[in-house]
Amino acid sequence: MTKTISIILIVCSLVLVFSYFLRSNTSTPTTTPVSVVTPTKTFHWTMVTAWPPNFPIFQNGVEQLAKDIETMSRGQLQIKVYAGGELVPPLQTFEAVSQGSAQMGHSGAFYWAGKVPAAQFMSSVPFGMTTKGVNAWLYEGGGLELWRELYEPFNIIPFPAGNTGVQMGGWFNKRIDSVEDLTGLKMRLPGLGGQVLAKAGGTPMLLAGGEIYTALERGTIDATEWAGPFHDKRFGLDRAAKYYYYPGWHEPGSPLELIINRTAWAELPEHLQKIIEVAARSVNQWMFCEFEASNINALRELQQEQHVEILAFPPEVLKELRHLTVETLEQEAAKNATFKKVYQAYKQFQTEYAAWNAISDDAYSQALQQ
Ligand code: CA
Repeated sequence: MTKTISIILIVCSLVLVFSYFLRSNTSTPTTTPVSVVTPTKTFHWTMVTAWPPNFPIFQNGVEQLAKDIETMSRGQLQIKVYAGGELVPPLQTFEAVSQGSAQMGHSGAFYWAGKVPAAQFMSSVPFGMTTKGVNAWLYEGGGLELWRELYEPFNIIPFPAGNTGVQMGGWFNKRIDSVEDLTGLKMRLPGLGGQVLAKAGGTPMLLAGGEIYTALERGTIDATEWAGPFHDKRFGLDRAAKYYYYPGWHEPGSPLELIINRTAWAELPEHLQKIIEVAARSVNQWMFCEFEASNINALRELQQEQHVEILAFPPEVLKELRHLTVETLEQEAAKNATFKKVYQAYKQFQTEYAAWNAISDDAYSQALQQ
């Protein structure tokens, strides 16, 4: 007991002595605490994107990302954002970041399918996983490591940074009642989805966003996909086509990408790298939520105010498209070893995820309909 009291007295004395010295120190204005690290270098980065100026959610989200990084870094990393065409054409985003003329870029990996075919698994995979599964695969299932391997030869580090959620199947000027109705269908449908349509007897067309409305209105194309109700409505596609089909089998959960020049990344101190990493995770979530919330209102307006006819693809059409998707992916995998490696990894995760999803999200959705 006496020993305990002695220890307490000694500790109290030490605290008093310490307090005295601390007070003495704080009264001396010239003393600088040694634990404070003063940032010495400010970084000025350029960011290019594949999106038009002021493009809602995509470009706005990217501009917010740059502001967030600047705020969190207390101005140590400043990023000047250029929309597509302002500094380089939209589809040269990858090249600009690869070469280092911009340190950072934002786009979709499907744009680089010609350069990196396997990158399509980091964007639009017909009958692939939805946003939840894709995020789980990228962050926790080895997907992001594969993505980084794919971009390493180009001196680029990718980060998931946005996701459209399940897109709509598209706008059609003729009804799709059977598989035969796909024969001869001229549809704006890029990427793997377009290859699947071609197998079904249709003609996929590659049109930039700005050309879609006119092509559909003039009958140059019979159908188009774009994104979801919010962006589709903004393009006025409801004025150019009769039927709006769902679901977007060709793009069930397309991630967007933040790409960074590897050399520029290596020059950053660790805390700035961490800020970018966390900001990318944040915008990944933010964009997805924005798409989801904006689509709710746009869908309601399309239904109630524009009286758009919203139709589901017949089950036999979806079944055939799914069958043709597997054929397409297997063929591409046979042509390209890297594509095969990523395809197998994606497929394995999707299969395992489906087993869990069946008794979680799927089962719950069914329960709500009872
Ligand atoms: Ca799309």
